[in-house]
Amino acid sequence: MSCCLSERSIAHVVLERAEVANAWKTERWESLRLLTPNWQSRLPNYRYEGDDPDGYQAVPELIEFLDRYARLISAPVRTQTNVIALSRVDDGYLLNTDQGEWRCRTVVIATGACNIAAVPSCGSAVPSTVRTLTPMRYRSPRQIEPGGVLVVGASATGIQLADEIHRSGHPVTLCVGDHIRAPRLYRGKDIQWWMDASGLFDQRYDQVEDLTRARRLPSMQLVGTPERLTLDLNALSSIGVKLVGRLAGIRDGTAQFSGALRNQCALADLKMGRLLDSFDSWARDHGLEDQIEPPIRLPPTDVEESPRLELNLASGEIKTIVWASGYRPDYSWLHVPVLDRKGQIRHDGGVAESPGMYVLGLQFLRRRKSAFIDGAADDANDLSDHLVHYLKRADPPHRLAPVC
Ligand SMILES: Cc1cc2nc3c(=O)[nH]c(=O)nc-3n(C[C@H](O)[C@H](O)[C@H](O)COP(=O)(O)OP(=O)(O)OC[C@H]3O[C@@H](n4cnc5c(N)ncnc54)[C@H](O)[C@@H]3O)c2cc1C
Repeated sequence: MSCCLSERSIAHVVLERAEVANAWKTERWESLRLLTPNWQSRLPNYRYEGDDPDGYQAVPELIEFLDRYARLISAPVRTQTNVIALSRVDDGYLLNTDQGEWRCRTVVIATGACNIAAVPSCGSAVPSTVRTLTPMRYRSPRQIEPGGVLVVGASATGIQLADEIHRSGHPVTLCVGDHIRAPRLYRGKDIQWWMDASGLFDQRYDQVEDLTRARRLPSMQLVGTPERLTLDLNALSSIGVKLVGRLAGIRDGTAQFSGALRNQCALADLKMGRLLDSFDSWARDHGLEDQIEPPIRLPPTDVEESPRLELNLASGEIKTIVWASGYRPDYSWLHVPVLDRKGQIRHDGGVAESPGMYVLGLQFLRRRKSAFIDGAADDANDLSDHLVHYLKRADPPHRLAPVC
């Protein structure tokens, strides 16, 4: 957004509570690699230019990539500046930070979609003998005391942590709810290539039938490894991870799991088949049949006949629970009445329901790719155009100033 505003000669500052790339520096686990291939690390006027476009950046490389970008575009970042309160005043906004106040006509909220780990409400009923961890605190299996681990959530984070923790010697049980299964490679191409080339990632927010649902979809079960491996439930079962259904509740110290595991997996298999079918017909329509490998289908997800429905958390079998149940944004500092009942900013494609307020980086904000690094460029371009028009109409004219 800063790059797009500079290109449009809009005076602005970027307030950052810590350092550039803070979430990547402080909230990610050690082994994490991006699940998006390097060629997909694209930002306005900037892209990955290394010699491994099909590889997946490790976090330190991504941090360097983002730090370099901030320097390259001379982004006016004020680091160590925490926004404590944002309120509407007169014709604009007042920002209270721990470094003083700012007044501005327009504000872009780019504080991220993943500030807080979303822990189910039954989390408070976990017996005190069981340690709980969120992915934001998890760094490596070294943190985990000997014994069994229950990983709650089987999307990208959950499957990656279940795999790593199980391989390190802790028997893992994985709670599987709604999930999106996908092969890493399909017909010799990365699944992200198919999503991108076929135009699926560019699908707009005003083109989908059920936007609320699209904005709540879990991440695809993907991992970025040098070997470009597919990590799905079958791969996890094959190393000994036990699958159970969605965590439905915890009563008297006993975790209860949904009995719908087989159905959930069958549904995910069906949806994956439909997605691959759509890629096949796109490839046919675009004359690619002879240039790529023939279609294949993955075997169905293997689920045992009667998966466990209960697990006594007080028995000592489980020593640690990892909540891989999603993330949510933190708007505790936002004192403008734009939040809906679920605590999400009400907006139309990033144009918030408060004059001159914008939001970026949320799931399906304007496009299916919006919450990816690669989604920021198009969204920031659109929203900065909107912002320029807003300021042109504004009276009195735009001003940005620290309040002395
Ligand atoms: C585990 C995980 C893996 C991911 N993997 C991928 C991937 O492989 N590929 C991909 O494209 N995307 C991935 N994503 C999504 C990725 O995080 C986003 O695409 C990207 O980080 C969004 O950038 P952002 O700047 O909008 O938000 P963030 O990176 O979250 O940055 C928000 C910034 O705002 C700052 N901030 C927050 N509140 C305040 C405040 N009150 N005052 C001042 N500053 C504040 C934070 O310190 C932070 O630096 C992943 C996300 C997670 C959680």
